[in-house]
Amino acid sequence: MSLDVLAIAAHPDDIEQTCGGTLIRMAEAGYRCGGLDLTAGDMGTRGTPEQRIEESEAAARHMLLAWRGNLHFPDARLENTISARMTLAVKIRELKPRVVILPYWQARHPDHYRCAEMGFEACFLAGLRKLDEYSEPHRPQKILYSSLYADVKPSFIVDISAQFERRMTALLSYVSQYGESGPGSDLFPNEIEIRDRLGAIARFYGNQIGVKYGEPFVVKEAIEIGDIVAMPVRSI
Ligand SMILES: [Zn+2]
Repeated sequence: MSLDVLAIAAHPDDIEQTCGGTLIRMAEAGYRCGGLDLTAGDMGTRGTPEQRIEESEAAARHMLLAWRGNLHFPDARLENTISARMTLAVKIRELKPRVVILPYWQARHPDHYRCAEMGFEACFLAGLRKLDEYSEPHRPQKILYSSLYADVKPSFIVDISAQFERRMTALLSYVSQYGESGPGSDLFPNEIEIRDRLGAIARFYGNQIGVKYGEPFVVKEAIEIGDIVAMPVRSI
């Protein structure tokens, strides 16, 4: 398997919420995209891990992903141990992504910032020849951090206006999370509320680049521009 883009997230449905539109757009452009969830949401109030995995596979089809997997690490108590990092690094060697998308490195939920740290360190380890003798070294060219839920200035924003509806359909595949009934239904936003909320956030970022819907990303390194005359997004 050789992917162009791999999004790594802590929980099933994180990818759909933070970078799903970008994955769909890249898949539509002909790139092979994948999604790797570190946990199956076994501490969640609603739904079983088996349901969440089934729902994540349905969501993956809506997002046109070439591959989706789950490492079944413990939910809500994700730990950046050497064995977890090694498992993730070997997976990265197998999937050979050119670009990796991680959650932003500061977050309210410990699983989210740990996922960012584990993902970064696993990308580094994956490039070491002597890491393990059964897989070839591979280091992704680029690491992007999806910053949709972080209160930081994005390095860039992807226009997902044409992909927003498909992303919404993917997210709503998680019937156990966003359905209208069942235990904890007073705690979980229903479909109208989730549409409203995600629409508002996507509009907020879209507005910053003069389009309807956008998804923000942060990169740690500078971005190179070859043609300053053709740069998009108006200054005034
Ligand atoms: Zn999450």
